[in-house]
Amino acid sequence: MARVGFVGLGVMGAPMAGHLVRAGHDVTVWNRTAAKCAPLGEAGARVADEIGEVPVASDIVFTCVSRNEDVFGVVAAMMPHAAEDTLFVDHSTTSPETARDLQADLAERGLRFMDAPVTGGSMGAQAGTLTVFCGGRDEDYERARPVMEAYAKRTRLVGPGGAGQTMKVANQIAVGGALLGLCESLAFASKAGLDLATTRELLAGGAAGSWAFEHYGPKILNGDWTPGFSVKNQRKDFAYAFDAAKEMGAALPGTVLVDFLLSKLTEQGLDDRTTAALYEVILGLESASWT
Ligand code: NAP
Repeated sequence: MARVGFVGLGVMGAPMAGHLVRAGHDVTVWNRTAAKCAPLGEAGARVADEIGEVPVASDIVFTCVSRNEDVFGVVAAMMPHAAEDTLFVDHSTTSPETARDLQADLAERGLRFMDAPVTGGSMGAQAGTLTVFCGGRDEDYERARPVMEAYAKRTRLVGPGGAGQTMKVANQIAVGGALLGLCESLAFASKAGLDLATTRELLAGGAAGSWAFEHYGPKILNGDWTPGFSVKNQRKDFAYAFDAAKEMGAALPGTVLVDFLLSKLTEQGLDDRTTAALYEVILGLESASWT
């Protein structure tokens, strides 16, 4: 069993770290808001008082925080305490450029880094069925792979440093389109007076079906706007997608539209809600401007 650390016990990180404990690994956790460590401590993880203790107790350190600057911050705080060849595996969604920079920075100090963003949502993290897109070196991937299997049904090395995050950009473009399809379709059905539960059930089982219909459809029916995946995080990922697309000359017309519609929730201070709240935005649009 491996000596592993986990930093960032949010919606995704907490259940992932829980799977590592249950798989029998020697797990040390740290979270900025210390109270979130308690359930992991009760489950058998060592709770670090200071972030610097995590790499001291670990051969592989997993991070799952929020944005580029947050990953730079937590890695910088751990770097001075890490022994040579410690492997940092970042499960946050960042820009591909951030991942490449981190890999180069750590390599200069004799440390290893692999970008490893995940997909499958909070439900996938809880069920241990995530997919992990990895960018880095073969030997680092082979070190981390058996450990990540505690919470992933599928892991794949997709290229060198940054390639995992580039794959995640492609993923988020598709997720945005599927979200729009779900919300626009259900908003139309609602205005047409169709029974929403029946609409969701029948459409989910046919050509319109998608992960969004399966997992976000019920949230819309219940008016449950808790994340899941927040509008704030979705728009963060879109910003990374726009930067990457500009660099390579790719067009993202659908993503621009979904980002614009989600910005209506940001303007109302509602960007901690699930992205499924896009349904309410579309329901509130004037037909004259959009048909
Ligand atoms: P979350 O619930 O907001 O959790 C974020 C975690 O990062 C919290 O533990 C937070 O600490 C910590 N954190 C943020 N900034 C930090 C900083 N500067 N220093 C130290 N700790 C910091 O977010 P999440 O939904 O778990 O998402 C985590 C990452 O996974 C994001 O990059 C997201 O885009 C990605 N992701 C999310 C999903 C999803 O469905 N939720 C799916 C795939 C990928 P505090 O507890 O102190 O706030």
